[in-house]
Amino acid sequence: MNMIQVFNTFGRRLEELSVENNTIKMYVCGPTVYDYLHIGHGRTFVAFDAMSRYLRLKGYNVIRVQNITDIDDKIINKAKETNTSWEEVANTYSKDYLDNMNALKVKIDLHPRVSTHIKEILEFIQGLIDKGHAYVAPSGSVYFDVTSFPKYGELSNTKMEEWNQGEEFLKEKKHPFDFALWKAWKPGEPYWDSPWGKGRPGWHIECSTMATRYLGEQFDIHGGGMDLIFPHHENERAQSESLIGKKWVKYWIHVAFLTINGEKMSKSLKNIIPLKEALKEYGAEVLRYWFLSSHYRSSLDFNENSLQQSKSSIERLKDAVSIVKDIIKEGPKSYASDDDIKTQKEIITKISEYNEFMSNDFDTSNALAKIHELANIVFTKLQYSRDLLGASIALEGFRQFNEVFGVMDKELGEALESIDKIIDTVIEIRNTLRNKKMYDLSDQIRSALADAGIKILDSKDKSTWRFQ
Ligand code: AMP
Ligand code: ZN
Repeated sequence: MNMIQVFNTFGRRLEELSVENNTIKMYVCGPTVYDYLHIGHGRTFVAFDAMSRYLRLKGYNVIRVQNITDIDDKIINKAKETNTSWEEVANTYSKDYLDNMNALKVKIDLHPRVSTHIKEILEFIQGLIDKGHAYVAPSGSVYFDVTSFPKYGELSNTKMEEWNQGEEFLKEKKHPFDFALWKAWKPGEPYWDSPWGKGRPGWHIECSTMATRYLGEQFDIHGGGMDLIFPHHENERAQSESLIGKKWVKYWIHVAFLTINGEKMSKSLKNIIPLKEALKEYGAEVLRYWFLSSHYRSSLDFNENSLQQSKSSIERLKDAVSIVKDIIKEGPKSYASDDDIKTQKEIITKISEYNEFMSNDFDTSNALAKIHELANIVFTKLQYSRDLLGASIALEGFRQFNEVFGVMDKELGEALESIDKIIDTVIEIRNTLRNKKMYDLSDQIRSALADAGIKILDSKDKSTWRFQ
C-alpha cells in the first residue's frame, strides 16, 4: 500500500496519514438548514466523499459523521419571514439536503441534529464551567473564556493580542474572542431549559458535543469548507481540548470555495445555484466529475463551459470502457505480441500514477489526467490489438477510478453482468432481423433500447453497445 499524505490545516503541512485499527473517524460540518443546498455545499461534501471512497479502496474503514444544524439565528429569522415554525423550516431544508446527498451518491453514516442533542450539549457546557473555561453572564448566556486556553489561535494562526474591537463589541463578554456556548432566551425564539435559565445552544458547541459523542474524545479527520477555519473550528478545538484535556483532532482538512464570477457562492451573497437545479440540469455524474476536476484546496469557479467539458470527458471515458469490455467479451487469445506486453506495462504505470496522485493529498485533478491517458492507450492501442490481458488490467484501472469518482456506475457495476448478457442477446436478435431485412422490427428494438438509455454502436461487421 502506498503511503497516503494529507495536508493538515493545523501546522499547514503535508503529513503521513496514520490511524489506529485501520479505521478513520471523520466529522464534516454539515449545513445550516434554512435554505436550499447549493453547489458550493455540493463541492465540499463530494470532496470528502472522494476522500472517504479512496481511503476505503485502500482498505480503511471510514466512519463519516456530518451534522445538521437545525437551531440557528438564520432558521429562526426564516421562520419569522415565512410565518412558519423553525421546525418546519428545518424539516423542509433537511429533506432537501438529504435528497441531494443521495442523488449525488455521497455516503454519510450518521446525521446528528442539534435539536436532539440538547442534553449532551448542556453536560458539555457544564463540564467547561466546572473546569473554569466558561462563565455565566448576567443575561443567562454562557461564554467560553478564550484566555483560559493558551493554545487559542493556533489552528487559524490568529493572534489574540492583535484583536481589539473596542468596548462596544464586548457587551457582556470578557474578551472580544469569547464566544457563546449558550444563548439566553429572547422573546419569539425557541428555548430549552438549562441550569442558567431558558435558552438555546450557540453554534460551535454542537459540533464539539456530537463529534465527541459519536467518534470518541480523539478522532482522525475533521473538516469542512475553508470559511470554517476561523472562528468555527478554532472555537470547536478550544472548547473540546479544554474539556478533554488532550489533543482532539489529528488532521484538519479544509476545502476551498466554489465561486461564481470569482466570488464565494453563498446564501448571504444571493448568488447561489441550488444543487437540486444543477442536478436536474447536469446530473450527478457530471457534477461529481466537475467538482473533482480541480484539487480540493484550489477554488473552483462556476462556468457553463467547464461543465459541458466534464460531460464530454465522461463520454470519452465511457467509450473507452465499452471498448475494453468488448475486448474482454471476445475471450482469450493464444498469443500476445511484444507490443502487447509493452502496452500492458504502460497501462499498469498509468494506474499506479493515478494512485500516487490520489495518495498525495487526494489530488483528483492530476489523477483524472492519468485516467484520460489510460483511455488514450485504449483508443490508440488496445482497440486495434484486442489484447485481453491489457484490457482486463485497464478495466481494473477504470474500476479503481470509478470507486472514487462515481461517474460510470452503470458501466462498471458488478451486478450488471447478467444485464449485459440480456442486452447482448437482444442485440443479436436485432441483428438477425436486420439480416433478414425486417427493418421495422429491428428499428423498434433499437428505439426501445434507446428509451432504456442504451446506445447501439454499429460498425461494419459487429454491433456493440453502451449506457448513455
Ligand atoms: P453552511 O450551510 O454555510 O453552514 O455550510 C455548510 C458546509 O458547506 C460548510 O462546510 C461550508 O464551509 C461549506 N460551504 C458553504 N459554501 C461553500 C462554497 N461556496 N464552497 C465550498 N464550500 C462551501
Ligand atoms: Zn462544525
